[in-house]
Amino acid sequence: MNTLTLHLAHLEHNYKVLRKQLQPKTQMVAVVKAQAYGSATLPFVRRLVQLGVDALAVAYTEEGVELREAGIDLPILVFYPQADTLEALLDAHLEPCLYSRSLVNRFKVLLQQKQQQHYPVHIKYNTGLQRVGFNTTDTAWILEAMELECFQLRSVYSHLAASEAPRPCSLCDDQIMQFEKLKTAYQKACDPPPKFHLLNSSGVFNYPEHQNEMVRCGIALHGFANRPEWDALLKPIARLSTQICQLHHVQKGSYVGYDHGWQAPQDSVIATLPLGHADGIGRHYGHGRGSVEINGQRALIVGNVCMDMLMVNVTNIACKEGDKVLFFGGQSTAADFAKSANSISYELLTGLGSRIQKVIEE
Ligand SMILES: *Cc1c(COP(=O)(O)O)cnc(C)c1O
Repeated sequence: MNTLTLHLAHLEHNYKVLRKQLQPKTQMVAVVKAQAYGSATLPFVRRLVQLGVDALAVAYTEEGVELREAGIDLPILVFYPQADTLEALLDAHLEPCLYSRSLVNRFKVLLQQKQQQHYPVHIKYNTGLQRVGFNTTDTAWILEAMELECFQLRSVYSHLAASEAPRPCSLCDDQIMQFEKLKTAYQKACDPPPKFHLLNSSGVFNYPEHQNEMVRCGIALHGFANRPEWDALLKPIARLSTQICQLHHVQKGSYVGYDHGWQAPQDSVIATLPLGHADGIGRHYGHGRGSVEINGQRALIVGNVCMDMLMVNVTNIACKEGDKVLFFGGQSTAADFAKSANSISYELLTGLGSRIQKVIEE
């Protein structure tokens, strides 16, 4: 059985490491979008609530609604609410991050229709990522809109495009400078001023002096912060394991897998594993890029990854059918495994398929 084991004691460790980087007053928003980065949303969120996290954030309204339905009553920010989900967002008392004039206008009409007052909202600025957000030139318009009775402006934030890049990083410095100017404008215009936040996981380590009143952490809770020296402080929570389902002895010159993806350079032993691209181990791991751990040794993935299975070369590894196989969480981490195929921990973890059983370990 393919198993993703989630070690909640490591979540607690990571939470505490992050908290240690923060001033006592700085709030932590735990980012739990995409099923808490492909882990197990509810056990993960419940542990964070126990640990005292200040708020949660998801990408889309539907994710926040699921958390409410499970009884989670912390503030929940929705980073990328889509206009046609605003009513559901309101019904679940989720807090939208508003990133355009049309979204502010749509939400205003809805709040007024439903006779809502002082509804908590957040304003997202684009300071250089060019993804979503108001531009800095929109501030006068936003300030005027936020004076309406229906809104309560809780926070103003932006997102760095390369928070893990070695300092000094001129593009990050430019984003930070723009954000500082925004802060001054809001501090002058609003009484009380909203909270400000700029940093994700890597940012907490790289720019601690810019933690402001809040930070937004996702991947670091899972044990990664995009640089070896920060990763060393954290503990990965996930381990992906399976077992050998069949061994084949193949002769020199024979081909293995679809499209004859690998040809045995010598008489070889091939182990077939019951995970494939439908499980999130994509074809980019094939052809010797990805490797797994079997009985303490590394076995390279050979040829093309299939939908439900893949093959590894175990010619020089003592092993038998049924032996345990680790994709990550042993000698190598999810970040290492992802890197072997030019990917990142985020993509690997959030892409793991629903056929993988999740097991919570305390
Ligand atoms: C996903 C996301 C985060 C979390 O980033 P990590 O690198 O996982 O800490 C923070 N802020 C925003 C706006 C995001 O979309």
